Amino acid sequence: MQVPFLDLKRQYLRIQSEIDEAIRRVVASQFFILGPELTAFEEALAGFLGIKYAVGVASGTDALILALRALDIGPGDEVITTPFTFVATTLAITEVGATPVFVDIDPDTYQIDVNLIADKITSKTKAILPVHLYGAPSEIEKLAALAAKHNLFLVEDACQAHGAKVNNQMVGTFGQIGVFSFYPGKNLGAYGDGGALVTNDEKLRQKILYLRNYGQKQKYYHDESGRNSRLAEIQAAVLRVKLIHLLDWNQARARAVKIYQKKIVDLKMQKIPAGHESCYHLLVVESGRRNELQKYLSNNGVQTLIHYPVPVHLQKCFKGLNYSQGSFPVAERIASSVLSLPLFAELTDEEIEYVGDQINIFFKQ
Ligand SMILES: *Cc1c(COP(=O)(O)O)cnc(C)c1O
Repeated sequence: MQVPFLDLKRQYLRIQSEIDEAIRRVVASQFFILGPELTAFEEALAGFLGIKYAVGVASGTDALILALRALDIGPGDEVITTPFTFVATTLAITEVGATPVFVDIDPDTYQIDVNLIADKITSKTKAILPVHLYGAPSEIEKLAALAAKHNLFLVEDACQAHGAKVNNQMVGTFGQIGVFSFYPGKNLGAYGDGGALVTNDEKLRQKILYLRNYGQKQKYYHDESGRNSRLAEIQAAVLRVKLIHLLDWNQARARAVKIYQKKIVDLKMQKIPAGHESCYHLLVVESGRRNELQKYLSNNGVQTLIHYPVPVHLQKCFKGLNYSQGSFPVAERIASSVLSLPLFAELTDEEIEYVGDQINIFFKQ
């Protein structure tokens, strides 16, 4: 049997008529940028999350950059974040000229370790930027309390966490700004790049609206130097269709994870604390024999990926930050032992059972 890591064609085939209609509607209108689809999607996304405002932009990376810019974070400022994430979280910090200050992760949840943050706060610290990793919430209530206590901004990288909740509140809505990505492989994915910022603050929303549109409040008058970063009408139309299905898809992912958990005997998986609801963007298992396991699964038709093989502080592009091997031992150990299994809403029970069987056979050898 061949089991793909992700097969977006299966999703498309199930919603093809809705998607085709949405795309045709935009093409027929010949209105491509900052039109009615985007407004409708922004309202729908804000409603889904239970927040006042959403602003669509060109990508999750842009959303992170615009979030930091909207909060006036730049050169001389420090932003506390995790070394165990997709590189874009850190790229956004360096892109605005601020300095990322890493804090090691919890060995069970893989999220930023809240207990280690206070020691890293200095007079230059402006914000905490946690990531809800693999679709599971970080300790966002504790992070919000810590940020408030030290008068810091809290910006949530919820790029993997569409629909994840803590005590029934959607992640992305705990800080001043929450950031989402609609990269095609995310739980809510566009048909190209896309992203959004969400906030309850009207002033921040206004500022983000200018920043995403060349910094213009009035056409051809530019008070701030913004960028060109809009979520295209076609993408917004696709996302409007998909948002309606998101909760069902997240439920199907959760169900798949349950089947995996039942099937796979004693393999460590990401811990989800009580009160936390993951949207199961990725299903990650941990093993000291990770590379061997990946090879075995590949030889038996199962496609897997590693999120992420190199922690951010050891990436060559950040060698100027002067971190080295041993700086964040937990992140480094986890990076060398995690493996992401196939997980998407349309995965069949047979496929999951097969992957589980292969893993069990590997560990019995
Ligand atoms: C996907 C992702 C991003 C970047 O989003 P893009 O839309 O690809 O720019 C940022 N942070 C995390 C944690 C992500 O998973």
